[in-house]
Amino acid sequence: GAKEAGRRRYQFFTVGMQRSIRAKAELEQELRRALERQELILEYQPVADVLTRRPVAYEALVRWCHPRHGMVSPARFIPLAEETGLIEPLGRWVLETACRQLRVWQGMGCSDLCVAVNVSARQLELGLCAADVESILVASGVRPASLILEITEGLMLDGRAESCGRLQALRDLGVRLAVDDFGTGYSSLGYLKRFPVDELKIDRSFVQGLPDSSDDVSLVEAIIGIARSLNLALVAEGVENQRQLAFLRDRGCGLVQGYFLGRPASGEAVSAWLACPSESASPRQESAAHA
Ligand code: C2E
Ligand code: MG
Ligand code: MG
Ligand code: MG
Repeated sequence: GAKEAGRRRYQFFTVGMQRSIRAKAELEQELRRALERQELILEYQPVADVLTRRPVAYEALVRWCHPRHGMVSPARFIPLAEETGLIEPLGRWVLETACRQLRVWQGMGCSDLCVAVNVSARQLELGLCAADVESILVASGVRPASLILEITEGLMLDGRAESCGRLQALRDLGVRLAVDDFGTGYSSLGYLKRFPVDELKIDRSFVQGLPDSSDDVSLVEAIIGIARSLNLALVAEGVENQRQLAFLRDRGCGLVQGYFLGRPASGEAVSAWLACPSESASPRQESAAHA
């Protein structure tokens, strides 16, 4: 019956479940249609200077506004998009949309603002190259240095010649590269030497226990040391409270991201806030400013 169908559909979006081949094919169809029907949207979360708490960049995070299931998290459909190759058109759409949005914000006077876009290993394997990114930048009127591509450690380590070459070419274009979820991948740090990355993002699992967990304190201090000695920008993810922020500030982690600074929000909401930082509605940013 309808109830059962509803339950079955709901299961499509469960993380880590074993999807039947049919369920997967059905979801693939839905995702393909979602791209065509413009059911995908981007939200933007601020990456802020730890001292001023002003945003220096916004990270674009994709959502699927499903007609029946509401907002679906990327953690649920990105893996499927990667498996099916749909990540290619999806990723291209994300890049174009984020760059166009950034151009609007820069036009409002925020000329130093940057945008960060997540790029998965599969996208590079499927052929995302510097020429593609360059044409998107040219079409949107965004400088390469205003674009940060967030890559997970796995990709840096995968060592595939084409992927390495593509990353290098992106870097040569002047785009900045960040290592996302830093510390959750492998323990080899050799890739930091091979890839001229610009930024590390400390995974939020290490930020969570600050400042009480001595393990988290040690790990975060070590990562701050690595970033400092390699002269890399450093972002701490998942900052949810004042104590975490104070710790990171005192230890010299330059940039912070997390609910305490601002939740992901629509492009329009960010525009409103940028136009009038102190007044427009952005509850989390307000509370951070007052804390
Ligand atoms: P990520 O790149 O590490 O993004 C950070 C995630 O942490 C986001 O989840 C964000 O909403 C969440 N977050 C931010 N601040 C806090 C906080 O203070 N506390 C907690 N508990 N969570 C926080 P989201 O939006 O669900 O994205 C999950 C992952 O999906 C991203 O992780 C990224 O790997 C992937 N993703 C998102 N958008 C895209 C995209 O356009 N392309 C690709 N390839 N991957 C994407
Ligand atoms: Mg990211
Ligand atoms: Mg991250
Ligand atoms: Mg993450």
